[in-house]
Amino acid sequence: MKPESLMMSYGYKPALSEGAIKCPIFQTSTFVFKSAEEGKAFFEVAYGLRKQNEGEELGLIYSRINNPDLEILENRLTLWDEAEECAVFESGMSAISTVLLEFLKPGDLILISSPLYGGSDHFIKKILTKFNINFIAFKVGQTQAEIIKLVNDSGLAEKLALVYIETPANPTNDLIDIRSSKEIAQHFSTPEKEVFLAVDNTYLGPIWQHPLKHGADFVLYSATKYIGGHSDVIAGACLGSKLLMKRVKGLRTFLGSMASPNTGWLLLRSLETLKVRMDAQAFNATKIAAFLNHHPRVEKVYFLGNLTEEDGEQFKIRERQCLTYGGMISFDVRGTEKEAFKFLNALKLIKLAVSLGSTESLAEHPATMTHSDVDEDLKQELSITEKMIRLSIGVENYEDIISDINQALDAIEVK
Ligand SMILES: *Cc1c(COP(=O)(O)O)cnc(C)c1O
Repeated sequence: MKPESLMMSYGYKPALSEGAIKCPIFQTSTFVFKSAEEGKAFFEVAYGLRKQNEGEELGLIYSRINNPDLEILENRLTLWDEAEECAVFESGMSAISTVLLEFLKPGDLILISSPLYGGSDHFIKKILTKFNINFIAFKVGQTQAEIIKLVNDSGLAEKLALVYIETPANPTNDLIDIRSSKEIAQHFSTPEKEVFLAVDNTYLGPIWQHPLKHGADFVLYSATKYIGGHSDVIAGACLGSKLLMKRVKGLRTFLGSMASPNTGWLLLRSLETLKVRMDAQAFNATKIAAFLNHHPRVEKVYFLGNLTEEDGEQFKIRERQCLTYGGMISFDVRGTEKEAFKFLNALKLIKLAVSLGSTESLAEHPATMTHSDVDEDLKQELSITEKMIRLSIGVENYEDIISDINQALDAIEVK
């Protein structure tokens, strides 16, 4: 069966919960053992004191280690990415920081794509560096050979431990090649040390892009965005192989960054409509991009659907990696910050807020909001200028979204 058919039932047995058709919120900190022997056995497995027997499950112990809402959610999330294992977190940032802390140690080097989400960028550049973990950033459009040279020239090539990318890049929708990033990780791997590839798939996942299939070792999500999808919860997820996820879950237990039962329950509810929501958002986005492409007050539109064969490598990456054009559109208005702000202030249906992937459409001004702390030079280089607007397309009727954009573009002219 397809994942969307399993989102209502997979991993949940009504008989274990008084016949309730929906998984209840297991709002409990601890679980009662049937016997002392059972408690001992659960701990032996949880703490890795002995191997799990064939068919033996990790029994419920304590909600920092495991909880039914989280386990069922994790099992369901594995279906979209066809991952062996998943761990859910109380935020996207806690998923990302837990993976970085588990797979990097003092002296190591991390290779990142640029630009990254502001929080990830800050964690890598301002926090990991305090622990003597070094970073190198590469940019969209750099070839594999150029990136390998960048690492070699740093003098830290043998210290490379992790390649960390985000594709499409926010807010420009520039694409990074997942397969090529994996080849770079393999190039620097040795028999003693495997270099892993982590991909932040928040922008297109888990429906529209599956990084594990292109060689990634980890997929990371801010589940606050499309997965949660209703702007009412902060959460995160990490997926990968059993072997690697054992380490991620191990550190999660000791950082205490697991999601709460209530967060797990909210996301279970969100997953039931994930496919229909994201289908509607991708459909609406193509309609809205087509409208913006022909509007005289719009100078440039940044949308995956606008890539053509003439765009060369970017077009090829899209064809290989992306299953739709996504639900995120950025565009430049003709003018400056003044015109961009007039547009934003005139919107009626679309809300002026950061974040993305929710049922309601959102608009924001990257240069002064989400990307305000990016260096001025880098902003210019990345085309994040004062005339850029970022849209997250929701599930409203696309004609209503277009008429709201249209009247707000008209408002730019008003003195
Ligand atoms: C929002 C976001 C994050 C951080 O997630 P939180 O849930 O806010 O902690 C990480 N990466 C991307 C691409 C995001 O959009």
